[in-house]
Amino acid sequence: MPGHAHIIGAGIAGLAAAVRLASQGYPVTVYEAAPQAGGRCRSYHDPALDMEIDNGNHLVLSGNSAAMGYLDVIGARDKLKGPDSASFPFVDLASGERWTLRANEGLIPWWVMSPRRRVPGTHLRDYLALMRLLRAPVGAAIGDVYECRGVLHDRLIGPLLLAALNTEPHEGSAALASAVIRETLMKGGRAYHPLVAHEGLAAAFVTPALDFLVSRGHQVSFNKRLRSLQFEGNRVASLDFGETDVALDRDNPVILAVPPVVAGSLVPQLRVPTEFRAIVNAHFKLDVPASVPPITGVVNGTVEWLFAFPDRLSVTISAADRLLDTPREELAATIWADVARISGVAREMPPWQIVRERRATFAALPHQNAIRPGTRTGWHNLALAGDWTATGLPGTIEGAIRSGNRAAEFFLGE
Ligand SMILES: Cc1cc2nc3c(=O)[nH]c(=O)nc-3n(C[C@H](O)[C@H](O)[C@H](O)COP(=O)(O)OP(=O)(O)OC[C@H]3O[C@@H](n4cnc5c(N)ncnc54)[C@H](O)[C@@H]3O)c2cc1C
Repeated sequence: MPGHAHIIGAGIAGLAAAVRLASQGYPVTVYEAAPQAGGRCRSYHDPALDMEIDNGNHLVLSGNSAAMGYLDVIGARDKLKGPDSASFPFVDLASGERWTLRANEGLIPWWVMSPRRRVPGTHLRDYLALMRLLRAPVGAAIGDVYECRGVLHDRLIGPLLLAALNTEPHEGSAALASAVIRETLMKGGRAYHPLVAHEGLAAAFVTPALDFLVSRGHQVSFNKRLRSLQFEGNRVASLDFGETDVALDRDNPVILAVPPVVAGSLVPQLRVPTEFRAIVNAHFKLDVPASVPPITGVVNGTVEWLFAFPDRLSVTISAADRLLDTPREELAATIWADVARISGVAREMPPWQIVRERRATFAALPHQNAIRPGTRTGWHNLALAGDWTATGLPGTIEGAIRSGNRAAEFFLGE
């Protein structure tokens, strides 16, 4: 019988690690500081709107293989919805132009040769320039190897990289941008169908994982904040939760799946990312006309992506630190003006909510990417997980799940 595994943090990384170990026969306990699971990927009842919303819209792509594997295991693949092709409607708020990027499914991207399918105003050579990103030297910024301007950049590559890295593209890590492009654009349209948790993030990524664990007899304990780890030689000997201590046997695995600042305070000499970027989300409660596409990319607006649900329109703005001090009413009015134009909904501003996540992800800068730690630590029964560990990807659900899987696999000997 494998030793009892202790997972600290019930964000997506911690849940993925727990599900993986539980499905391989380990008894598991998950400890979460908050009263609910999900971390930065959560749903909650919003009193201002009197409805359940997500802290932020999360876009997942069909080629996010770890995310799809996780959803399959917890039985929630059908909780993500999207078109059955890689098609992305865009609007340029400066010119009023609208277009839909329609990639073909296969490996050879012939859509870039079709003026009706590619981004209007772009040429084949613009797409070929992207190859420079794929050959970037280690430690390069995107702006060192790829000119972050021009029509293709403004209308596709800029918005894509800004959303994926949550960092201004010119200063972002070329290695992380390259990883995103390799796993999406380079794999053919079938790898980047856009998918959204249409019933909310909890219904897709969180509740089914909790049900999976609890229905199999594993423990998930809320309001349990780990205060410190007690070390003995080359192992963690006990977990200190303030009022309670949990003593560990020699082979009890511990997976620390907490944010980087917390991990850095719990593990001696651990180097973790120290710079972060904000994401601002705005939610507007209204009956949304069926004509509004589920996701619209926006160029030359304050809004970057508009997500349509039957009962609300939600907006995402990445690397949004510049908006953190804007008064909420002013921000809501500015965003609503964009939303009304994008959606064609002509009415007064409906009930709204602004959610500002100050530390939405680590800043995907070359020097921050370089200090992300791996799964292993100096203690044989302690592993790390989280989107900020060295996954090779920016801070995303896919990265978080891969990190959780890797931490579990470390103990499974895979
Ligand atoms: C607004 C927003 C929009 C986003 N959009 C996208 C998107 O479109 N696509 C995408 O792929 N990704 C997106 N992301 C990123 C994605 O949410 C994260 O990559 C992912 O949720 C990180 O999961 P995690 O488990 O690594 O970390 P976290 O979610 O931070 O989980 C850590 C958990 O540890 C808990 N904890 C902290 N301290 C302790 C302690 N001492 N003891 C016990 N528990 C503790 C926390 O409460 C938390 O639940 C977005 C993030 C935000 C904030």
